[in-house]
Amino acid sequence: MPTAPDDLPLADKDSEVARLVAAEDTRQRETIRLIASENYASRAVLEATGSSLTNKYAEGYPRKRYYEGMEVIDPLEELAIERAKQLFGAEHANVQPYSGSPANLATLLALCEPGDTILGLSLPAGGHLTHGWKVSATGIYYKAVQYGVRRDDHRIDLDQVRDLAREHRPKLIWCGHSAYPRTLDFAAFAAIAREVGAYLAADIAHIAGLVAGGVHPDPVPHCDVVTSTTHKTLRGPRGGLILCRKEHARAIDRAVFPGLQGGPHNHVTAAKAVAFGEALRPSFRAYAQAVVDNARALGKALAERGYDLVTGGTDNHLLLVDLTSTGISGRTAAKALDACAIEANGNAIPFDPRKPFDPSGLRLGLAALTSRGLGTGEMTRVAQLIDRVIRHAAERDGGVEPAFRDTVRAEVRELLAPFPAPGLGTP
Ligand SMILES: *Cc1c(COP(=O)(O)O)cnc(C)c1O
Repeated sequence: MPTAPDDLPLADKDSEVARLVAAEDTRQRETIRLIASENYASRAVLEATGSSLTNKYAEGYPRKRYYEGMEVIDPLEELAIERAKQLFGAEHANVQPYSGSPANLATLLALCEPGDTILGLSLPAGGHLTHGWKVSATGIYYKAVQYGVRRDDHRIDLDQVRDLAREHRPKLIWCGHSAYPRTLDFAAFAAIAREVGAYLAADIAHIAGLVAGGVHPDPVPHCDVVTSTTHKTLRGPRGGLILCRKEHARAIDRAVFPGLQGGPHNHVTAAKAVAFGEALRPSFRAYAQAVVDNARALGKALAERGYDLVTGGTDNHLLLVDLTSTGISGRTAAKALDACAIEANGNAIPFDPRKPFDPSGLRLGLAALTSRGLGTGEMTRVAQLIDRVIRHAAERDGGVEPAFRDTVRAEVRELLAPFPAPGLGTP
């Protein structure tokens, strides 16, 4: 095929960027990836993301566009919408949000006026910035009231949610989280929202894959709006998604475009369609179950080694480990683990006495390892490695000796060798 002048493959065109991309491929292949918001998208999803659809402008919605040349983009976006509706049993889907945060802002733009009161789970208790945290636009343009978790068992305090809802009469209540290891009782949230006349929005950014796979309670029947990312447990491209009741469809669509965004990212829309298609297959239910099984198995193996788990365990894809008794912070532990090719993040625990930048907890998620095919049998090994690194670092004030680091890195490579990473292959 003749090519346009200077239209070279990345490696020939820009060796500097090509080298960095290849290095990241290697890093992801050779690392035990436990960051709870991350995953491996499939080769098909990566391919769609790298397609010519990135070249096309498509402001508007299928059959209501501001540009011509839509004979491919329209059916493509309709396909993504239909698959999203089918996957989640939703009345309406908007697949254009650039990511999870804009999906949440669009929800507020659709259903609230600036200055209205909103109620959400606070960031230090496991909530997300966009549920009204003070530095977020959602906490600046809206009057945000925040609920938390109980002091004794660190579970969401529905009595507090009800009390705050009765006192502040929010226009909208958020449920959903980024660091909470238990399932959510959407019916109970809906009863509170109904009582005070508030809209209920669930943000399932983290748990969308578990909901789609039928291993987490379903928010759709209980909520006015459900927002999500597509790149966490759902295993799709980086992006956002909004599902809603028919009565809110017009307001949601208008809030996304022209309210908040310009042209949709069609290459990402294509990749979302691919990911929804993958999640509609029976094998995805097995994947979602395996994610939860792995999280439980890793939690059990860590607890057996003396680690404290927030809420005592997990019902979803993530664990929050309270490292107070080890003598090192979550951030120090995460840095030591990273040196040894085990990737996680320091995370605040409920009522954390330490600062958010250097918190007491370590958040571990199992979506990515499960995508490689690791199972409960491997989780003992993963727990052993984590425990060895944390004990080594704790004895050295956070330091990691080079010889120890190299030994663990070799063991990590050996553990991962039989499990090719989707889209990337084997170490
Ligand atoms: C990750 C996350 C988001 C934000 O998604 P981005 O794609 O990073 O903007 C929103 N809400 C929750 C609960 C999340 O965990």
